[in-house]
Amino acid sequence: MRTVMFDVEKIRADFPILKREIYGKPLVYFDNGATSQRPARVIAKMDDYYLNWNANVHRGVHYLSNVCTDGNEEARRTVRDFIGAASEKEIIFTRGTTESINLVAYSFGERFIGKGDEILVTEMEHHADIVPWQMLCERKGAVLKVLPFTDEGVLNLEALDRLLTNRVKLVGVVHASNVLGTVNPVREIIEKAHAAGAKVLVDAAQSIAHTEIDVQALDCDFLAFSGHKIYGPTGVGVLYGKEALLEEIPPWQGGGEMIREVRFEKTTYNDLPFKFEAGTPDFIGIIGLGEALKYVGGIGLKAIGAYEGELLKYATGRLLEIPDFRIFGTAPEKSALISFQVGTIHPLDLGTLLDRMGIAIRTGQLCAEPIMQHYGVHGMARASFAMYNTREEIDIFCEAIRKTGALFEGGKA
Ligand code: PMP
Repeated sequence: MRTVMFDVEKIRADFPILKREIYGKPLVYFDNGATSQRPARVIAKMDDYYLNWNANVHRGVHYLSNVCTDGNEEARRTVRDFIGAASEKEIIFTRGTTESINLVAYSFGERFIGKGDEILVTEMEHHADIVPWQMLCERKGAVLKVLPFTDEGVLNLEALDRLLTNRVKLVGVVHASNVLGTVNPVREIIEKAHAAGAKVLVDAAQSIAHTEIDVQALDCDFLAFSGHKIYGPTGVGVLYGKEALLEEIPPWQGGGEMIREVRFEKTTYNDLPFKFEAGTPDFIGIIGLGEALKYVGGIGLKAIGAYEGELLKYATGRLLEIPDFRIFGTAPEKSALISFQVGTIHPLDLGTLLDRMGIAIRTGQLCAEPIMQHYGVHGMARASFAMYNTREEIDIFCEAIRKTGALFEGGKA
């Protein structure tokens, strides 16, 4: 019995790619954690700008330039409202989560990190929330500390109290893990970090499309996400930062737009948010992202989260009926993805065979090698769901896994 009212067929109709066949089989797209699909209206919006309005932003006096500038700035206000920021000055457009985190690692690092300072990340971070901090630590002689998780995939909050010394200047934490699915108690972590005098960056790459986020309620200092994981275009993303903090940290890239006055003796910088946006932005991508957020807002993240929660429950139940099916990450608060192994089948073999049946999943180390090390495995397979996926697709997926399992059983016999 479905308990959530959600017109999934209507949503599916918005995504032309979902009608595709792969190797003659209907596409089952379960790789949404890597990138989501885009609805026709996002593509149409961008097409319209490319075909009818294109001109560079923030620098023209002419009509088309003003239209694009307005579109770019309207998208900024849409992002502001979507995540509950206090001001559009707090919304920096970047290329994505990775670039947003690198920006903070550079700019915050330049201003606030010195020798012997500590950065604390969790054991379940994506590489994008590990490597920029390691690079910063190398530059500054700082130390990277790691908050571990339990085998269930839950952060050890007792260890957090121990690790949060007054040397910790910044905590990087993923909101929802792209491997374990765990939704971390970021509000509680932020409170503890602030009490210890540390700032917090939340990696919202995997949570932004699945749960409501209010940066003021969370009280996070920075938050990063990518457009392409929330039905928007590739190549654009967002860094949210508290205005006062963004004022305090230096720009990270120099060039046009981010300046107030350029003299060979000394250059002064533009106001927020432009201080952090050197060069021509992907303004049509940004406009596309604004359109995607309006689309998601129209459906509502509460309804989306509830529907996806049901998909997760259904899929988990059905998959656990399959012999030797092992799920990595069983936290009580979990977003709609399942990382798994089936018996001794190599995840790559599994992914390749499922592909032949029209099913797209992710396999490998999932950009989180420390998680692989935690469990002592070389790789995993991952099915990650979106609001347009259905129970029928999960049934097809389960059937395909059973078939694959049988094939390998046969091989062994
Ligand atoms: N963090 C997490 C948790 C992710 O899942 C991803 C994308 N897989 C990233 C960061 C990086 O996002 P992007 O590649 O869009 O910069």
